[in-house]
Amino acid sequence: MKTGKVTLVGAGPGGCDLLTLKGAQAIAQADAVVFDRLVSSDILNLIPQSAKRVNVGKENNHHPVPQNQINAILVELAQQGNHVVRLKGGDCFLFGRGGEECEYLLEHGVPFEVVPGVTSALAVPAYAGIPVTHRDYCSSVHIITAHARAGKKPDIDFESLVRLNATLVFLMGLTALEMVCNGLLAAGIPADTPAAVIENGTRGSQRKVVADVMALPEQVRAAGLKSPALIVVGRVCSLSEQLDWFTPLPLHGKTIVVTRPRERIGTLSDKLRALGANVIEYPCIETMEIKNTQKMQQALTDSYQWIVLTSPTGVHAMVHMLRCIGKDLRVFWGCKFAAIGAGTNQELKKYGISADLIPEVWDSTHLADSLLAVLKPTEKVLLLRAEQASAEVPEKLSAAGVSFVDVPTYRTVYRTEQENFLYGKDIDIVTFTSASTVEGFAHAAAGMDFTAFTALCIGQQTATAAKKYGMHVKIAKKASIQAMIDALMEE
Ligand code: SAH
Repeated sequence: MKTGKVTLVGAGPGGCDLLTLKGAQAIAQADAVVFDRLVSSDILNLIPQSAKRVNVGKENNHHPVPQNQINAILVELAQQGNHVVRLKGGDCFLFGRGGEECEYLLEHGVPFEVVPGVTSALAVPAYAGIPVTHRDYCSSVHIITAHARAGKKPDIDFESLVRLNATLVFLMGLTALEMVCNGLLAAGIPADTPAAVIENGTRGSQRKVVADVMALPEQVRAAGLKSPALIVVGRVCSLSEQLDWFTPLPLHGKTIVVTRPRERIGTLSDKLRALGANVIEYPCIETMEIKNTQKMQQALTDSYQWIVLTSPTGVHAMVHMLRCIGKDLRVFWGCKFAAIGAGTNQELKKYGISADLIPEVWDSTHLADSLLAVLKPTEKVLLLRAEQASAEVPEKLSAAGVSFVDVPTYRTVYRTEQENFLYGKDIDIVTFTSASTVEGFAHAAAGMDFTAFTALCIGQQTATAAKKYGMHVKIAKKASIQAMIDALMEE
């Protein structure tokens, strides 16, 4: 049996853009992932589908799994021969009990590695325009937990902290905010020392309150800030407004759900995140390639002049289909390729092929029309599409008397094992890149109020599907990811 090991991975303070490359590699190679509450959905989406997922930090009413049980889970999984990734928020050794887990693994002879993460203690202030050190204001930064061990008071030496004249970052301190501020004041910190509380730092939903130590608890209460949040105290907080680069981003404050299948979700999510949006990845469909069918075998005995592909997934599926049959793209030697849009052409280019035809408008109607405009009477067409693809293209080709074969190369299926990432969230926009993502969403999020958000749709067909569920739709001018972003920016 292969020997298992545990890799502790710091997941960073928020989305996957602040996960380290080494952390992402470890996740990609994991057989099992044991994760905490603060790890975001887009990082969880990086977990391979074959890997076991163990959530040890249950939300709200459910108690988190006690530490001794987490330790036992890690050892058990590793002893079964698994490569276990232990995913923790921020950095694993900063108030993350990573040290305790390593000691336990050592005692049980389980090999372990540690991948440090970007800690919230430094990254969250940075996203709030607060440099934790600055030569004009202080020369050190101190990270303190305001959380006490069960049944005890937090043991904070406020006199020493105040004497340091430094930046102080308190984690796990929201409920203890008043105690922290009073402690500092009693120890002699000037009452007008600038301070801040930052909620959901580095995420699109980040909020902050900046006030002096005296006024902070009252203002934070009034603003209703919630956990996760941290407290920063020190003169560097006075820079917070001037150096705020994050909240002015155009989509800051908008919560946007991305529903594309996992393997394609990145491009849209990354762009939205870069514009400051709070992105929730909620892949609702999966595409599954269809294996070696009789129909494929038979279709490939014939020769064609045109190969028609209607999605990037279709390109993948075509290559997969050929591989399954023991062939490769040379069977289409001399054929012309029609692609529904730039995304499909981009995928084709990965295999060294440039589409001969891309319709001006990237949808089935225009694809069929532009193909009919150039087809010679004797030319034969091979359609390689999804099993559930619309009847429009074949209907138009039939009506024009064109000889064609329509071969399904993949099918889309709804994802069923969704964790409920959307529950209780105020969603502004849900993005749909195909009619099947609308169906998948309606299936996965059944019971949700579909009129409470804007459905941003890639094209007409997708919009028709969304309207069926009563959604308010906005349609991109062109069927591309960039056009979807442009439509958002217009608002
Ligand atoms: N190991 C983690 C800290 C774990 S303690 C790290 O290095 O970041 C958990 C505390 O971290 C929370 O109570 C909160 O104070 C802080 N925290 C984590 N993520 C945060 C975020 N995105 N915004 C604000 N505070 C955060």
